[in-house]
Amino acid sequence: MTELNETHDPALISWVESANAAGSDFPLQNLPFGVFRRRGSGEAFRGGVAIGDQTLDLAAAQAAGAFGGEAAKAAAACSEPTLNAFMARGPAAWSALRLALSRALRAESSVAGALKSCLVAQSEAEFAVPAKIGDYTDFYTSIYHATNIGKLFRPDNPLMPNYQWIPIGYHGRSSSIGISGTDFHRPLGQTRAPDAAEPGFGPCQRLDYELEVGIFIGTGNAPGERIPMDSAEAHVFGLCLLNDWSARDIQAWEYQPLGPFLSKSFATTVSPWIVTLEALAPYRTAWTRPADHPQPLPYLESATNRDRGAFDVELEVLLETETIRREKQPPARLSLGNFLHAYWTVAQMVAHHTVNGCNLNAGDFFGSGTMSGPDAGSEGALIEITRGGKQPVTLDNGETRTFLEDGDAIIMRGWCGKAGATRIGFGEVRSRVLRALS
Ligand code: CA
Repeated sequence: MTELNETHDPALISWVESANAAGSDFPLQNLPFGVFRRRGSGEAFRGGVAIGDQTLDLAAAQAAGAFGGEAAKAAAACSEPTLNAFMARGPAAWSALRLALSRALRAESSVAGALKSCLVAQSEAEFAVPAKIGDYTDFYTSIYHATNIGKLFRPDNPLMPNYQWIPIGYHGRSSSIGISGTDFHRPLGQTRAPDAAEPGFGPCQRLDYELEVGIFIGTGNAPGERIPMDSAEAHVFGLCLLNDWSARDIQAWEYQPLGPFLSKSFATTVSPWIVTLEALAPYRTAWTRPADHPQPLPYLESATNRDRGAFDVELEVLLETETIRREKQPPARLSLGNFLHAYWTVAQMVAHHTVNGCNLNAGDFFGSGTMSGPDAGSEGALIEITRGGKQPVTLDNGETRTFLEDGDAIIMRGWCGKAGATRIGFGEVRSRVLRALS
């Protein structure tokens, strides 16, 4: 789904006026999918697509006769409280529904009248995690993050020798993945100060976020069946924003030898909208590996991946403290980076994950790993920005932070924009730290 087609035409405008506003995350060229219901209604969650500041109820649009053929079947699959059934239908179905939605929501659409009653304002909706996530795998694909954090945890050996050969990952916890707006309590845990003989127990003192791109698997593979590079992206439904909350003091004590455990599993937060790979087609870009670095083994290599395996997505992290919220100040920017700095691509993550015969299922979820870039100001976690808590960051209002305090909310945003294509956005993922429960 990397080819441009009529759905990407920048000249298209929608009869939903808010979709045509400059700077809208959800113009007609985006059409991301999520699940929603009217806030406080007790209605069942069901599939929707974002258009401007509205959500189109897909089952209602289907019932109104807006779609035919494969698009009608795909829209019917979106009537469920998760998108797994729709995801499992595969790229031809995703694309057919996108095309039908593009035509139905265009200014000249013949079904505009019938669809007006199928819109729900996003401000009056609540959202849920858009898929039943069976398995969650968190990768580690920014070499800048891996090097920055490696220097802090292992000053003598920052980048492990396997890093440039393997898309490193670990199996995460899916039960604690929540939708944007889900606040959580500061975790308790076991930690050990560097100079202490024994660990102590109490609330996490070094609470951090990780800016990541979330990747939803659409169609899976049978056990034992590898997904090769050239078909890897056909298994990927789309991308969202992901905050992998991290308790650094718990992590430092527990992570060796088997990796993160309770330092990550207390909360993970995702944005409501999944931007499809097809929507991202104008923003594909070359993936490069410096000539003096190891080149990928053949099972992680493809000409298409070299040509356009990367995604040009701007990624921003903002902090809203209690003071900022109380005094109605704008949230403070902590970083601005880009997904194109990833050392491994989405296709390489899929090919590597399945190379041993591991099966993926519709709705499985990957994290990209913290997306830090090469430049100062593009670090995707506080532990990097503050050099392990040694250099506090000062906000515009004079407040300082090394790690997060109770009441702090982290907001992550993502968007794509370039000349000749319509800007599209990911919306945001937002969540707030509450005091620890004793
Ligand atoms: Ca992570």
